[in-house]
Amino acid sequence: MKFRLKDGERASVEFDGVLLASSSSDDGKTWRWTELHLYRVTGDGPITRYVLHKIGRSVVYHRADSRCTRQAKAAKVGELLRADDQAVEEAVAADPTVPPDGPERIQAYLTKMAERVPCSYCNPADIYDPDTSDDSTVLVEQDRFTVVVTDSERGVVENLHGKDEHGTLFLTKTARALLERAVVDNPALREAWEVRVL
Ligand SMILES: [Zn+2]
Repeated sequence: MKFRLKDGERASVEFDGVLLASSSSDDGKTWRWTELHLYRVTGDGPITRYVLHKIGRSVVYHRADSRCTRQAKAAKVGELLRADDQAVEEAVAADPTVPPDGPERIQAYLTKMAERVPCSYCNPADIYDPDTSDDSTVLVEQDRFTVVVTDSERGVVENLHGKDEHGTLFLTKTARALLERAVVDNPALREAWEVRVL
């Protein structure tokens, strides 16, 4: 299967591969979360390459004059709502498990819709309130995409670890969940995770 993954703001990475495992820190109660997806590149002959896709999601938005964050982009409310609707429509259309019509399709729309949340510090206007002008501007936190390509199982494990301020390696819950799923059918990856080579 062909995949095209976003990398940074503009770039993307395209390859033939299989999705090995996914995990997410989204528990339905959080406004910012991380998604991890691990792919294996196919058609490489004897070399095994892996692609790790790290996605930082956010549904938080701020006042146009807020200084809460530098990682947000200005958007007109009307354009933002239209773009969100279109994204949901595309996600539903691209999902092969959703039937062409009926209540399941409506349910799919509802589950793929992520309502944006106003920042509680700068308190912007409610973008879903009909009284809010389509032409007013808010600052929208952007999803962030990172692609890491590695040619070894050990590289996958290393890239899933973070380092705390003391230099100690750690695995987040989400990274651990991804590895636990991915090693089920992949003994080489299990070995790389469990055995430290000196
Ligand atoms: Zn704010």
